[in-house]
Amino acid sequence: MTDQCGSRLYEREAAALAAVQRLRFFPLAVTGGDGCWLHEAGGRRLLDLSATWSAAGLGYAHPAVVAAVARAAGDMAGAGAGSVCNPESVGLAEELVATLPGAADRRVYLGHSGSDANEAVVRAIRRATGRRRLVAFHGSYHGGLAGSAQFSGLMVDAGEPADPDLTLLDYPGAAPGTDLPAILARLDAVLGAPGGAAALLVEPVMSDGGIVIPPAGFLRELRDRCGRHGTLLLCDEVKVGLGRTGMLHAFAADGVEPDVVTFGKSLGGGLPLSAAVGPAEVMNVAEAFTMLTTAGNPVCAAAGRAVLRTILAEDLPARAAATGEVFLRGLRELQGRHRCVSEVRGRGLVIGLELRGDASADGSSQPTLAAQVAYRAWELGVVLFYVGPRADVLEITPPLIISAQQVQQAIEIVDRAIGDAEAGQVDKDAVAAYSGW
Ligand code: PMP
Repeated sequence: MTDQCGSRLYEREAAALAAVQRLRFFPLAVTGGDGCWLHEAGGRRLLDLSATWSAAGLGYAHPAVVAAVARAAGDMAGAGAGSVCNPESVGLAEELVATLPGAADRRVYLGHSGSDANEAVVRAIRRATGRRRLVAFHGSYHGGLAGSAQFSGLMVDAGEPADPDLTLLDYPGAAPGTDLPAILARLDAVLGAPGGAAALLVEPVMSDGGIVIPPAGFLRELRDRCGRHGTLLLCDEVKVGLGRTGMLHAFAADGVEPDVVTFGKSLGGGLPLSAAVGPAEVMNVAEAFTMLTTAGNPVCAAAGRAVLRTILAEDLPARAAATGEVFLRGLRELQGRHRCVSEVRGRGLVIGLELRGDASADGSSQPTLAAQVAYRAWELGVVLFYVGPRADVLEITPPLIISAQQVQQAIEIVDRAIGDAEAGQVDKDAVAAYSGW
């Protein structure tokens, strides 16, 4: 690692910050950012195709977010909505509810992260319904805290103890043989069993589990079955919601109305903010039940309102749909040039590029091809990560504001990075120092 990429900062980090909260694909040390660019310690500008796992949906230092934060921080209406009613939290809740379909009487929980939003609402659902069973999918990710990790398929599949009342189903299309009729038959059996199920949690596009786009109508099938059995359908929009799929809400692809929707990541414009929106009788089940002192913080809520306003005013979902199509087409052309690209799939600006010829598939400890490509892309000036149970899917979730020119630049660099990795020109020992997933 060179000084240029911030080796001093990296050393200090290793001596000061806990590894348990770290997942690195290459030595990424940044000191600032604007738009789609991250400013690397040492001076390089990196084109960010991750948006920090999609948290920077509007990019970095968006003027609307900066202004809202400055205003709210300069005149702070308390520090959390638990003990103090503040206009930013109330306004954000009203505005979020207004984006949802249907006329249900809804209430909003505000939190800090997708994890706490999912945990809080699952607890409230269990209390309100008196049911314990949860249904989720293998490979799904709903959070990294104790509760949410235990109902996340990805974590349970990786050895985290499962919630004792969790049933995991296959996600359609995630692997050969995961066909929808068989999955739905299993779901019928689980929902119809004595005691029923409190909630079914689903990602409209399974992201960390490998960027899996489910077949059309999947959510509708879930919606119908949950309705029949009194099970609440929870759409986890934390990663792909708020415009990324080309629609404001990813569940709109199937025209469904979920009972509960959780938001996070891009909602805060890069600040810690999440929300769970659900039926009033669930969300009001008790007071002092899911308390975090600074949840509903007025500064974060002000950022969230600025994000929502910008997404709607600039019709960023439509922009994501159009840009995503160009991006997808360009990446699919790479499939013709590189034998290792087995599939390119996506919806709007959530795109996965799957690589075969994975060096670790034969049990060797060599970094996967995706790990090599990601590392090489970083050397060439692009930030992209990889996901999936075999760590073989390049994950492309750039800020929604990415320009046509930046998309072209990104495709060229990804093309070169794949070519270099295929040709064995990436230093595998250097890559191996970054464990990734
Ligand atoms: N839900 C989904 C679908 C996610 O992708 C994630 C994070 N990858 C979470 C929940 C958890 O969000 P956070 O990391 O903000 O707690």
